[in-house]
Order: sequence, then C-alpha cells, then structure tokens
Amino acid sequence: MNKITTDLLDRLAAIVGTEYLTTARERLTAYSQDALKQVFCAEAVVSPRTAEEIAAILKLANDALFPVTVRGGGVGYTGGAVPIRGGIVLATDRMNQIIEVNQADLLAVVEPGVTNYRLQQAVDEVGLFYPPDPASWKESYIGGNIALNAGGPRCVKYGNTKQFVLGLDFVTPTGEIIRAGTRTPKNATGFHLESLLIGSEGMLGVITRATLRLVPRPEARRTALAIFANARDACRCVADFSSSGILPVALELLDRTSINAIEDFQPTGLPRHAGALLIIEVDGLRETVEREAAIVREMCRKHQAIQLREAQDESEAASIWEVRRKMSPAVARTGVIKLNQDAVIPRSRIPEMLEFLEELHRETGLLLPTFGHAGDGNLHINVMLPDREEQTRQLGVATVRRIFVRAVELGGTLSGEHGIGYAKAPYLELALSPATIEVMKQIKLTLDPRGILNPGKVFEAPVPAHEVGFVQADQSCC
Ligand SMILES: Cc1cc2nc3c(=O)[nH]c(=O)nc-3n(C[C@H](O)[C@H](O)[C@H](O)COP(=O)(O)OP(=O)(O)OC[C@H]3O[C@@H](n4cnc5c(N)ncnc54)[C@H](O)[C@@H]3O)c2cc1C
Repeated sequence: MNKITTDLLDRLAAIVGTEYLTTARERLTAYSQDALKQVFCAEAVVSPRTAEEIAAILKLANDALFPVTVRGGGVGYTGGAVPIRGGIVLATDRMNQIIEVNQADLLAVVEPGVTNYRLQQAVDEVGLFYPPDPASWKESYIGGNIALNAGGPRCVKYGNTKQFVLGLDFVTPTGEIIRAGTRTPKNATGFHLESLLIGSEGMLGVITRATLRLVPRPEARRTALAIFANARDACRCVADFSSSGILPVALELLDRTSINAIEDFQPTGLPRHAGALLIIEVDGLRETVEREAAIVREMCRKHQAIQLREAQDESEAASIWEVRRKMSPAVARTGVIKLNQDAVIPRSRIPEMLEFLEELHRETGLLLPTFGHAGDGNLHINVMLPDREEQTRQLGVATVRRIFVRAVELGGTLSGEHGIGYAKAPYLELALSPATIEVMKQIKLTLDPRGILNPGKVFEAPVPAHEVGFVQADQSCC
C-alpha cells in the first residue's frame, strides 16, 4: 500500500471539491478513532456527496494503491471504521438525505449518513415504525447500522437491521455502482447482493442508499420492570416466554453487579440485594397489549419476581428505560478499563452462561457486570480491569477468550451486533471453521482484488489482543 502524496490529495480534491478534503490535525484525529478510543491516523478525510464521487475515489485508490476506510457515525465498538493501515477515511456525513418515506409501500429510502434517530422520527411523523434501535441511535448512521447489522432491545420481536433491508445501492471496492434488491417485500430475482453487504463491516462495498422496510406504528405499549432474587429465576422467566404465547418487544436483563453499578452511579432505588432485573415491553393494538401485559404479570409471578413495577404512562415507561440507558456509563465506573463484549447465545442457555461467569469472577477476581438483550441471547459481558498493569491486561484478555469459548460451546457466537472489526479478530477462529473463513476471504478477494477497502479487519489481527481497547493517551494525528 502507498502513502497519500500531494498529487493524490489534488486528485481527491478534484473529485469531491477542495472544501471536502482535509488533512487538518483535529479532523484527522477525530476521524481516526471510534468508541474503542484507539487512534490509528488517517492521512486525509474525504467527504463525498454522491455514489459517482465514491466510485471515482475507489478507482483512484485501486490505481494508486492506497487504503480507504468508510466511516458512518464513528460509534462502533470494534474499531471497524478506524484506518488501521492509514490511507483515507471516506466520511459519509454529507450523504444525509431522507429521500422518501412511503406509507402505502411501507418503506423509506435514505442515504447512509442519516442517523437511526432521524429516520425513526421521520417515519413516526406519518404513523410508521422502524424498529432496530441501537442505544447509539442518536449518533450511529444507517450505513453503519447496516454494515454491522445493528440491533437493540426491540430486536426480540422485530429482528435486527437485516430484517429491514429491502434494497441497497453500493459501490464495489473497484468502483462499480450496483443496485441490489427491490422496493417490494418479496424478491426472488437473482442472488441477494444486498444481503452480502449486511454485516460486511465496510469491507465489500460502500453503501450509498438504502431502501428500508417499515411497519405500522404500534397503537400502544406497556413497559414493566421486574426484580428477581436471583439471576436464575430471571433467566428462566426469559426462556419460558417461548411457551407463553406472546413475543415481547424487549426482554432486557441486568445482573446484580450491573444493578449495583447503577446505584453507585446515580441511585434509582433499585434493591442492591436483587439477583437480577428484567425490563419487559409489549406492544400492539390496545386490547392485545392489555392482554399481553396480564401474561407478563403472570410470567413474573410464576418465576418468583419479588417486585413488579408497571409503567402507567409514557413518562413512567421512559424512566424505566432510563435505568437501562445508564448502564454503559455506570458500568464504566466499576473499573479502569472496560473490555466490552457482546457475545450471543441461545436464550435457553443463558443460566449456564451466568453460572460460568460467576465461577470466572471467583477465579479471576475480575468484576464481570453483565446486561443486555436476554430475549435474543445477546449479552453485554464487560470484563472490568482494576488497573493498566501488563499482568492485569493479560488476565483480562485470557478472560475474554474464555468467555468466547464458552459462548461458542453453548451454541452461540462472538458478536450479536457490534461486529468483529480488529478488536475481535484474534478470536474469529473460535467461532468459524477454516473453510468458512476461507469462503469469506474468497468473496472479499473477488470484490476487492487489491485489498484497498478497510484492510486490517476481521480476518487479520493487526493489534495484539492485550492491546485492544486500551486507550492510548495523548494520541493525536499530526
Ligand atoms: C454507547 C453505545 C451504545 C451502543 N449500543 C448499541 C446497541 O444497542 N446495538 C448495536 O447494535 N450497537 C450498539 N453500539 C455500537 C455501534 O454504535 C453500532 O454498531 C452502530 O451500528 C455503528 O454505527 P456507526 O454509524 O457509528 O458506524 P461506524 O462506527 O462509523 O462504522 C462501523 C462499520 O461500518 C462500516 N460502514 C459505515 N458506514 C458504511 C457505509 N456507508 N458503507 C459500508 N460500510 C460502512 C465501517 O467501515 C465500519 O466497519 C453502541 C455503541 C455505543 C458507543
């Protein structure tokens, strides 16, 4: 791979316009990290407006052989949008138009730089609903959501981003403009190339437009917070919903360490002795929701919930969700370094996972606050390190590895929504067979023979595991 020369900067500026190319130090630093907070410096940030400009940039990158890393909102947790091999960051900030919201056809057409939040607001205004709801909805972009197959609490009932993509326009790494998929809910016409781009982590193409499926906005919803004396009862309650005849929108779990982290951070009156709590939400037609709320009550009673708080109105529902939103900052304060994981396991096996985590905590002494989307088995297991000592890092990394091994043994996998990026690349072979990885590499090679789009991710482990997630203090791009 080559460095970005002055001549290349001129040629890039000729494509996007001088004002949309920068090498200013502050901008380079800001665009050279994501939520992992590790800086790998871009040589320039380029902000195209159209698919044609992106095609021209990628053709130039293939000719001159420099890396291109696509960036959405830059709040990924795995370093996916970070230019680990240098080159340019291709920012999608300017591609931020909501092109269409179509009530009759239940779809929206958007550019990749629209935030999840803006899309949700726009469709809500006309009585429609876009369910995927990552907690980063105000910052993360639809392009990033698609490239990582983002999820959120509501995915239990509605599914992840991939269930909502009807069609995608994208530019291949070699600069071809492709239109894949349709505006119809059904489509059996050729290979589903749009599906190939979902979860592709910015490695198979640059998404330039998305046609997204919408659903009618549910008429009503009911939210409840249930406290359990032990995590086992809470997990049994989650698994037992399968036989309850209803599918809640959300089934979120917080373990005891997480509950105490919240009480230490901003007390909300949660009982510190509780083993776990569940946030359960149902939605639909008003009459259906009343009936489903009664079933939720019954399920909580059956599984020995010691308290059940049911929201009586929207503001009480919001205060229940506020508890969940405090989780990330609250947990961050329980250690010096947070190694954040989002392993996913079949929900029937969550009790075994939690037992394993208790053993691991006893053995290592590390706090492992665990919370997340129990309804779809996607647990945010945080390995908290008390200091930055080399020995502690090694212990943290070994603990992360053991968590992944156990997740796979239980029938799960490494990530439910955050992706692999470079942060989890050292663990890929725990979840995928050599033959599976080889097929993925061949697909990448076919679309990107010169390896210019987002190199250093998923298949490679360019950062040793014990360096991943450790903030490099005072790093900036000069
Ligand atoms: C506080 C916090 C809470 C979070 N909660 C959740 C959650 O509940 N659920 C969840 O799923 N995630 C969550 N995340 C992780 C993250 O925000 C999401 O994964 C989100 O989808 C990332 O979107 P982004 O626009 O920031 O992508 P970026 O970080 O900018 O990029 C992510 C990847 O997508 C690629 N990409 C971006 N745009 C394009 C494009 N147009 N074409 C092709 N590839 C592209 C990048 O190259 C990179 O590989 C959370 C993060 C934080 C910091």
